[in-house]
Amino acid sequence: MERKLKNEKLRSEQISLRLFACMVVIILSILYISIPLIIHSDQEYIKTQQVLTEMTSLRALVKTANKISRERAHSNKLMSSQPDELENNRKELQAFRQVVDAQINETILTLQKNGFDSIALQLRADLKPKLAQGRKKVDAYAEIPPDQRTSAQLDHAIVSMFKVWDSNRKLLNVLMTQSKTKDSKMSNYFISILVLTDMRDQAGRVASNIIAPVTFGEKISDENRARSLQTQHQAQYLWTMVDAIQPQNAKTSEYQYLYRRVKTEFLDQGLPLIAKLLDESKNNEAYFLTGTQLTERIVDKFITVMDLQNYILDYSIEVATEQHKKARHQLIFTLCISSLCLLIAIFTMIYARQRVFSPLIRARDMILGLSNTPDEQQPSKPQQEFVSLFEAIGKLKDMLQQRDMMELQLKQIANSDVLTGVSNRLALDEYIGVLESQPETLSQTCVIVVDIDNFKFVNEQYGHIVGDQVIVMIADQLKQHVRSSDLIVRYGGDEFLVVIENIQMDVAKAIAESIRLGISKERIVISNMDEAIQVSVSIGVAIGAGSWLELLEKADQSMLRAKARGKNVVEG
Ligand code: GH3
Ligand code: MG
Repeated sequence: MERKLKNEKLRSEQISLRLFACMVVIILSILYISIPLIIHSDQEYIKTQQVLTEMTSLRALVKTANKISRERAHSNKLMSSQPDELENNRKELQAFRQVVDAQINETILTLQKNGFDSIALQLRADLKPKLAQGRKKVDAYAEIPPDQRTSAQLDHAIVSMFKVWDSNRKLLNVLMTQSKTKDSKMSNYFISILVLTDMRDQAGRVASNIIAPVTFGEKISDENRARSLQTQHQAQYLWTMVDAIQPQNAKTSEYQYLYRRVKTEFLDQGLPLIAKLLDESKNNEAYFLTGTQLTERIVDKFITVMDLQNYILDYSIEVATEQHKKARHQLIFTLCISSLCLLIAIFTMIYARQRVFSPLIRARDMILGLSNTPDEQQPSKPQQEFVSLFEAIGKLKDMLQQRDMMELQLKQIANSDVLTGVSNRLALDEYIGVLESQPETLSQTCVIVVDIDNFKFVNEQYGHIVGDQVIVMIADQLKQHVRSSDLIVRYGGDEFLVVIENIQMDVAKAIAESIRLGISKERIVISNMDEAIQVSVSIGVAIGAGSWLELLEKADQSMLRAKARGKNVVEG
């Protein structure tokens, strides 16, 4: 017994273990699908963050480059100014230098914040000293009395400021090398901004390269002419590059407007100024502009380049921010969906285990236990567990059928009279319950009361055993004369009731008469006395009443009338 219980326990544990293994497989499958998705989304999120950081750093560096370019215009203006303009231009330059310094410091902070420490360091250690050196040369030139100045000194000071910008441009290259943006969708914007930075500087140099001879009213040297022409071509080439690089979907109407303005204002109006000065020099004519005027007119023209550059910078940062936002939403969405799937799977597993499988296992164990079917500890085939379960269910079914039969038998015994086998008062009570719930049936139901005449005498004369034989004979006679569907009840000691539904009085009386006749003809042989006795019955018949008791009372009254009439008769 103990061994059997142990086996069943082990078997249930095996089923639980298999369920647990299935759970683990499902959860692992979900993880297998969701982890790469999460990793991919996370990488995308980090990448877009990186792109945004790099774009911000690029913007800071480009702004610095532009400001350095712009400072060159102020320096040129100071160095080419007439004595009366000198003080004013010096003040302007000083003010602008502060703007440039503030921009450099801001850029250093931005670069440090974004993890480009080496570039920040170079700005501080390389660009700043070069700027200080360039400024020193500009200031030194401005200090030289106008009659002692030479065009070469001026050109030298201008070139020293070119070097500052070149140094900044190098840092843009370093940023480009370290950048991961160049592998992303943003690479075109990145390159476009660099090209515009170059274009902006080249545009500035177109004038700077000839400003020295123009200021001194000297002939433009071949070298300066070559440098100026080269920068003009460079600027024109870079202008076509910008449009080639700009992504097609980013060519907004504003971009197209700004791009056209560079052509109409800078290329079509700015460059001809230079060309005219170069022609004047070639023809030994007087220049139509002074150095200061040239600076002012050309700065005006390449503002369009700066507008275009600023637009692309802002637009690309907007795109990068949008992409970063999208990547963040994607990551959150992936995380939520994966967690939800995992939670649903775990919840379903736990729910199925607790609410479905555990009760099923318990039910199975109970079925096996109830049917006394042995549960094999290690079935050779999985089907075997079902075989034993079905065997157990089959056994239980047989057991239930047996129990039903026994119940029926017990009920029959409980409802039967021990001596005669006909129904007893208990069965009649049950029948009355059903009958009274159907008043229309009751109104057509017939009760026949049969009472043995002078039965006391039989008992007294021949003893109770003979009396019992008489009672059994009466019951047999009743069984012979009514249908099996009619109810025969031993109501009292020598009194029987026959209940017949849906019958007319004349038919009922005829049945009663045949009963009476049948009994009167019977003979009970008393063995030891070598004698046979005959008995008679008085019968009362009644049909229909408001209640059972009323019906019974009517039938009883009829029977009593039969007794009163001298017995052995039927009354109805
Ligand atoms: P009546 O014609 O007026 O019916 O007279 P009666 O003698 O039959 O009187 P009654 O019906 O009152 O008597 C019934 C008798 O039946 C009384 C009792 O001793 C007897 N009796 C009751 N049950 C049994 C039984 O199971 N076996 C035997 N042998 N006698 C019984
Ligand atoms: Mg009697």
